[in-house]
Amino acid sequence: MTSDASTVTASLEWYMRKLADRVLTLAAVSLAVASPLTAQSSRDWPIHAPDRPQPRVVDAGAGALPVPPPGDAIVLFDGRDLSRWMQGDGAPAKWIVRDGYFEVRPGSGGIVTRDSFPDAQVHIEWMSPDPAKGTGQNRGNSGVFLMGRYEVQVLDSYGNATYPDGQAAAIYGQFPPLVNASRPPGSWQSYDITFHGPRFDSSGRVTRPATISVLHNGVLVQDHVTLTGPTGHYARPPYEAHPERLPISLQDHAHPVRFRNVWIRPLAEDDLRR
Ligand code: MG
Repeated sequence: MTSDASTVTASLEWYMRKLADRVLTLAAVSLAVASPLTAQSSRDWPIHAPDRPQPRVVDAGAGALPVPPPGDAIVLFDGRDLSRWMQGDGAPAKWIVRDGYFEVRPGSGGIVTRDSFPDAQVHIEWMSPDPAKGTGQNRGNSGVFLMGRYEVQVLDSYGNATYPDGQAAAIYGQFPPLVNASRPPGSWQSYDITFHGPRFDSSGRVTRPATISVLHNGVLVQDHVTLTGPTGHYARPPYEAHPERLPISLQDHAHPVRFRNVWIRPLAEDDLRR
């Protein structure tokens, strides 16, 4: 081989190696991008598909609760009364308060915060009825509705299969949790939610969809998912323009689910820019 030819061969080998590296890198990147989308995409599965893979069960560990509110949090329930909440029609909240927690009064309707809130970090602790009663969606069902429209499902999902986009910590009808970090009925559990509401232009068009991240008992279960619109039962309705501040509501699904230690840290955009 002449020296010229060997230089060309060496260059060609070098180029082929680079190309192979590049292809491998691209493959790795597309895999890394594709996996979470496949796992979490709401569009890949029909709503409430019962054959959608069940999220893996994870032991959340001991996780000390209650979590004391940070200094700048607004406490929505401190164990004493529901003065910061009301019925949907403005009447005083009818849910039961006892021993530092409050409990759904079945049939009384959902309750709503008296104040409206912007994008926020929300902490809430809840407990499924013990002993457990019912199966599937009919077992310890309630829900945390951000801005009254976007539900983080509350359900007894401890050894209780249901459609994955409706189990505990699902964004109802859209995103199953990444894993099932549920504790048994009768144990306190926590949600730490970061919610950024949607934005609309003056004609009502979405300029920014809503996003949610959720820790369930300290375990990441929703990783900044982008909502398709409000949540619904067998429905994924489109966004409808609404204010940037709205109340939070809790669902009466006719099950005596308990809640305590509810606090919120509004994430005003001014604060984020500091
Ligand atoms: Mg619910």
